[in-house]
Amino acid sequence: MRRIELTSHIRLIFWAAVAMLCVPGTAQVQAPSTVGPCLVFHIRGNVTTDPAIDTCRQLGGSAQAANLRGWVLAQLGYAFDQAERAQCGTLGCLGPAPVTIILYPDALANAGVQRRTDRLTLTVNTGLIDFIDAAARSFNSDMKNLQLGRPTRGGYGDWMASVLGLGGQRCVFQVAFPTPTVASADLPQEQAVASAAYQLVLAHELSHFRTPQFRCNYSGQDQLGLEMSCDRIAESSLLRVTNTTFTPVAAVAWMMAMEVYERLTGPLYHNFYMGGNAPPTFEGMFPARDWKARSRQIVQTWNAFCGTGARSAICPDGYGDVIRFADSLTQQPLPTPCSPDSAPHAQTSGGFCSALKQALSLAASKFASIKGVSYRSGDSQTTFLIPGFRSCTVQNDADSGDSNLFCSAPTAKYADLLQGYKSCLSDWAVEEHVDKSGRRHANFSHRGLRPVVSVWESNNGGVSTSVDEHE
Ligand SMILES: [Zn+2]
Repeated sequence: MRRIELTSHIRLIFWAAVAMLCVPGTAQVQAPSTVGPCLVFHIRGNVTTDPAIDTCRQLGGSAQAANLRGWVLAQLGYAFDQAERAQCGTLGCLGPAPVTIILYPDALANAGVQRRTDRLTLTVNTGLIDFIDAAARSFNSDMKNLQLGRPTRGGYGDWMASVLGLGGQRCVFQVAFPTPTVASADLPQEQAVASAAYQLVLAHELSHFRTPQFRCNYSGQDQLGLEMSCDRIAESSLLRVTNTTFTPVAAVAWMMAMEVYERLTGPLYHNFYMGGNAPPTFEGMFPARDWKARSRQIVQTWNAFCGTGARSAICPDGYGDVIRFADSLTQQPLPTPCSPDSAPHAQTSGGFCSALKQALSLAASKFASIKGVSYRSGDSQTTFLIPGFRSCTVQNDADSGDSNLFCSAPTAKYADLLQGYKSCLSDWAVEEHVDKSGRRHANFSHRGLRPVVSVWESNNGGVSTSVDEHE
């Protein structure tokens, strides 16, 4: 496996740059409130009715996002302040509009901004936070070990190599996430590295917010071009802020971690997200998730900025070495996508049926490989989607070790879904009954073996379903 190698010169420059960062976490944000599975926190004002908050309310369920580390909120608050200052000059320059950040649970890393001008509502999902966290910790670990002349074991390079090594295998595996369950003595440095990613994410969203039609002054039609235009505005603004705490190389490490991971798991996500007329590949479905192109632009914008003679924490003497190092991160080898077709039950026709069968094939691994997010101590749940359902949750029982996949479709009709299951699982036995409350149930089993698929009318009038591996 190719490893990331650093010359001692680069080590010193990077470490000096990180050491100059002040420790984020001083921003004062109000205590977050729990709405459904989301965490809602107000940076300014106190919006209680908002379409995004309403969506959380409708999702119901417990506060999965609350499993996040507490300091993430302070990190986001700090990153928002930096992003705002970078974008328009001073804290508060965006005006009096209320500012709310909503954390919601989902596996595929994402962030967004709601298209309203009277308020600023930013959404960030748990998958994104897990990626930023993992990239920051592992990258910091490599940098520290290199600085101390120690082998870079268990860090970013090893993580990328382990993902690369899974290339081409069938899509039933667990991808390691280097997130230790104990707090690291290097937490301040890790937070500083993570802050670069958070600042870029939020400055990107503010770039949408501050430009006509949220289009970042982009006149083309393609999604990747639009998102890269926002990236460019965001990064340029962050680079201009004096005494910057934005470290482009850290942002590149995070983006490239997503690139490597998504190249591998793309077929899996494609199965989960695709509808009837979806493009045939993950990349075709999400053209803006070209993290390699986007991270290469980060490097180019940085290089051009330093080339103008700017001298700051991000363009120190010898900065060219660090830029070349960041560029080498963007050139790291990418894994061959995993192979969904060789999974036991996988079929490629029909989004719903394909996703259901994919879920069945993953039951034996206790759904570990669909998490897309890290296992964390005490974190027993995560989500993904089957077409037709609003959300699915992997539920792990820590005591018994059992796990199941639970999905709900609040507006679906039982009879319709049951028909879909019957045609998808046509060679499975089905047992139907009505419970004491008058709700209809159906249990599907195949030759008496596990997993069992259940579908039933839920309390709220919609339909629930589960895939259970164990009794
Ligand atoms: Zn965007």
